[in-house]
Amino acid sequence: STHDRVINFGAGPSALPVSVLEETAKSLLNFSGTGIGIGEISHRSKEFTAVVNDLESLIRTQLDVPSTHTILFSQGGASAQFSAVVMNMLARYKLLHPEKTAEEVTMDYVVTGSWSKKAAEEARRLGGGQVNVAVDSRQFSKDGKSFDNIPSHESYKLSEDPALIYYCENETVDGVEFSHDLTASTSFPFHLLKQGSLVPLVADYSSSFMCRPIPRLADHAIIYAGAQKNIGPAGLTIIIVRQDCIVDVDAAAKLGTAPVPLMLSYKTLADAKSLYNTPSVISLYMTKLVLQRMKEKGGLPYFEEMNRKKAARIYGLLKEGGEKGVFERKVSDGSESWMNATFLVVGEGAEKRFLDGAEKQGMMALKGHRCACLMPLFSNYRIQ
Ligand code: PLP
Repeated sequence: STHDRVINFGAGPSALPVSVLEETAKSLLNFSGTGIGIGEISHRSKEFTAVVNDLESLIRTQLDVPSTHTILFSQGGASAQFSAVVMNMLARYKLLHPEKTAEEVTMDYVVTGSWSKKAAEEARRLGGGQVNVAVDSRQFSKDGKSFDNIPSHESYKLSEDPALIYYCENETVDGVEFSHDLTASTSFPFHLLKQGSLVPLVADYSSSFMCRPIPRLADHAIIYAGAQKNIGPAGLTIIIVRQDCIVDVDAAAKLGTAPVPLMLSYKTLADAKSLYNTPSVISLYMTKLVLQRMKEKGGLPYFEEMNRKKAARIYGLLKEGGEKGVFERKVSDGSESWMNATFLVVGEGAEKRFLDGAEKQGMMALKGHRCACLMPLFSNYRIQ
């Protein structure tokens, strides 16, 4: 291309549309006719607050976020949310059940890969409640130790009245994802959640955000995602929070929960319309441009179809290659991610030959996560 761009398969920050990069390049010099660059403009300027408002409404309309939920923008990545969800949900629980001690409070974690495992570890580290691993998918793996499957519904052991129920929709390192066909045993078992009171369901959508609609979105207490996997550069975290989970953390602290750092409190962000402090202005701006492009293309129905086809093609090739003994797929049938296909290239030195060959064809960063000999393929905008 005129830009000498390669096909970048890196898992994050991941590829973005060229038209967005070109428009950003112009805005770096002069944003919205202000004569000031986007990296220099005040986050309180009317031109920039319009960006934040547009971004909010682009997410709300495309994902069909109901008025019961507030969309927040923050920093610190998904990792900061590993802590924030625990602290805010424990505060919420304390306000609902002031009599319960930390020993009597449980937090259910569905562990299906290295990211949900990390999130559970952070909850354990923070304390304030007991972590119940509702299911650990390694128990059901082919080799007894890998995150290679989404466990079936019968295996979940949810607590009676947990402060939160946590899952990671798409495990980026391991390549497993919950099915969006809610009749499949590898979908999230929404039917097991106690209805009646508001379900405290929390989901990490970092690596599949905006690649297709979110099933049962309205039944979630919190959905969050770092922008850098699919819709923008790093520096922005999107948090969709049901309003009953935006609580007065100081009132909870008076009743005995740990004080919550202001920047991790959803109330701080909500009260300030996500502009409590200086946000990552460029990241917000570029993410808005990406979502605008997505809307122009036909929104999530378009991308769902594209990603469905892409996944079918990739897994088809991996299956074919598997039969010939060229590839070895890591993930069990029905648990495959649409966003990152994990596989091995079989044979002595074969992986290096594969990567070298791909590189010669302009396909870069196919080698996967440092913790695994796997190769993620990624992003709505991988090939354009
Ligand atoms: N959760 C998932 C599913 C991820 O893929 C990642 C990053 O790779 C994280 C959490 C951590 O995200 P961050 O780097 O934004 O903290």
